[in-house]
Parts: sequence; structure tokens; C-alpha cells
Amino acid sequence: MSAGRETGEREREFGPYGGRFVPESLIPALDELEEAWLAARDDPSFGQELDALLRDYAGRPTPLYHAKRLSQACGATVYLKREDLLHTGAHKINNALGQALLARRMGKSRVIAETGAGQHGVATATVCALLGLECVVYMGTEDMRRQRPNVERMGLLGASVTPVEAGARTLKEAVSAAIRDWVANVESTHYIIGSAVGPAPYPGLVRDLQRVIGDEMRSQIEAAEGRLPDRVIACVGGGSNAIGAFVPFVGDTEVDLIGVEAAGEGLDSGRHSAPLTTGASGVLHGAMSAVLQDEYGQVLEAHSISAGLDYPGSGPEHAWLRDEGRVRYVAVPDQDAVDAFRRLCLLEGIIPALEPSHALAWLLDNLGGGGLDLLVLSGRGDKDLAEVLSR
Ligand SMILES: *Cc1c(COP(=O)(O)O)cnc(C)c1O
Repeated sequence: MSAGRETGEREREFGPYGGRFVPESLIPALDELEEAWLAARDDPSFGQELDALLRDYAGRPTPLYHAKRLSQACGATVYLKREDLLHTGAHKINNALGQALLARRMGKSRVIAETGAGQHGVATATVCALLGLECVVYMGTEDMRRQRPNVERMGLLGASVTPVEAGARTLKEAVSAAIRDWVANVESTHYIIGSAVGPAPYPGLVRDLQRVIGDEMRSQIEAAEGRLPDRVIACVGGGSNAIGAFVPFVGDTEVDLIGVEAAGEGLDSGRHSAPLTTGASGVLHGAMSAVLQDEYGQVLEAHSISAGLDYPGSGPEHAWLRDEGRVRYVAVPDQDAVDAFRRLCLLEGIIPALEPSHALAWLLDNLGGGGLDLLVLSGRGDKDLAEVLSR
């Protein structure tokens, strides 16, 4: 799903963004997936099964925690949405569970995924074990070397990790290998994409599966404070935790929505992962969106201290919400994220993942003047200890 021609005649869903830039042979599978999702959404038995697994297996609802010492440090009222407490340690399980149930509903016995840092691969291997589905995860050999423990986890969970030797041996090549597999095995196989990216219907499907974050936040904050928040803040890699948190608040224009990207070594250094803050439009992984690219439209490598934000693209709905002026996108450098990581450890006894530490760093730098702030703590930081301790 690299750059290419747009396939099919459907309208793009998000203003000029989204669409399907994929091989013709995948169009029937994308149509089938869209139909299956629309039907499942309206089927109470599907909703009941998904809700039960989210509750009993993954640990939903996650708490909305009033972080008092952090609030004091910020001169505001700050609540943390505790996605770090979910099974497998991050929000990715919400999407993986929903898509695995959908795969089974479509009669597909085999699931494929691609993974960079391994987090989405582990979430996918987990839900496939749960539902007894065959699972193949594509991973570049350079990423396999860097993320050995996640490769071992996937193995224990019964997934086969297929090494990809091409190019830089990282996520981009793994995506291409997953696409080739899907084209060849589309009858039996569902491809679980891990963020709100990819060709239609994936960005909308992943958003719908992640909006449980924002729906819970909305009712939890109304119960706790009797009003809507002033700001909702979330980190943006591909954009799934952020879009899930934002979408229930998009109609409430008094609520500021802030998406925090990774500025890496600085926006001027060229070594960052902030396509929404800096990037032009382009095609990546089958959709038109904000993409890091050079003057010839060649996709550039992304850089971030946090693996989950280290991606040169972004979900198409975010690009649209940016252009519409509804969500503000900002970027935070590596070092600020590390400092925020350490502060949350000491202030609240919570070790956050480096990804939401970017959102936290922005909050600590942009105090709300006594307002009510909700921050999505998208995952826990056990995976990031070596990185943080080495700085
Ligand atoms: C993968 C990941 C992210 C980034 O993905 P989004 O799709 O942008 O949410 C953020 N936080 C954590 C903990 C992750 O594992």
C-alpha cells in the first residue's frame, strides 16, 4: 500500500483525506470488511460479546483517576484516563479484540498483522490465542533484533513471527510483506491494522473500536465533576487512542482537543515524527493524509524516542480535524517526554509509557489556568525503562 493510484470510485471520508490507494485485488476484501463492520455494529449480540471481553478479559472500564499531586503541580484539575491498566498494558487491545471478533464473524480463520516495536503484534497474538485464530505477524529483522522480548511473547502466544529482510528491515517493509500476504490469501485471512490508518474502512473502523475511551471519559467526568472538561489531551502516533478519546467531544466546541506528536530531536533537525504539525499531504499505507516527505514526495523516515510514535504518517481523520480547526496538533521533543515520564513516576507512583509522556510534557508546559484537563495515559512504561535509564 505504498504510494500509487487511487482505486475504486467511493468518496474519501475525511474531506480530501482517506480513500483507498491499494491494489485492485484488495477492493472486494475492503468492501467485505466494511459491510461486516456496519452489520456487526448494529447487531446486539456482537456488541454484547465485545463488551463482555472488554470488561472481563481486558479490564474495562478503565478508571478516570484524579491525579491530585500532578494537579497541584499544574495548578489545574487533572484526570488521567488509565489505559495503562488494560491487559497487555495499552489501549491497542481495544482494537485488536474488536477486529479479531470481526474476523471470526466473517468466517476468516487466519489473521495477519505487521508490527514495528511489537506492541500491536503482541496485542494481535493475544486476541488470536483467545479466539483460537491462526496468527502470522510480519516484522523487519532490525525490529526483531531491537524488540526481542516482544518476539518471544508472540511466540509464547502461538503466533508465528515472519522475519522481513527487505530495505531498512523495519515497519515499512513489514507493511509491504503483510499486504502481499493479504493479496495472496484474502479468502481465508483478515489483516488487523493497529492504528487509525490504512485504506477505507480501516480508519473509521479503528476509531469506532477505540471510541470506548472517549465515551467512558465523558460519562466519568460528568459523574465526577458534573461538567465537560476544558481540554482533552492525547498523544498521536497513527492516531488511534487520540481519535477514540476526541470523537465523543468533537461536537462540544467549548472543549479544546489537543493532539501531541513527537518532535524527536527537534522539528528543525528533520529527525522527528510530527507529520500533522509539519507535514504536507501524501499517500502512505493506502490513504491520503499528512505524511513526512521530501520535496519529491518521497516518504521520509520518522524519528522518536517512543516506538509507538515513530511513524511517518497519521490517521486521515486527524488531518481533516486539523484543517477544520477543530483539533490543535503540537509536537514535543524526546527530552521533554523523558522529563515528564520521570515526573509522573515521582508525583503519582505511575510509570507511564513514553508515548503518553509526550502528552504529559505538553500539559506541564501549557498550564490550563485552573481548568479541568483530561489526559489519556495510553499505556504503561515497563517497556521503556531501558530507554529512559540510558539518558
Ligand atoms: C502504539 C501506541 C501509541 C500510538 O498509537 P496511536 O494509534 O497513535 O494511539 C500510543 N501509546 C501507546 C502506549 C502505544 O502502545
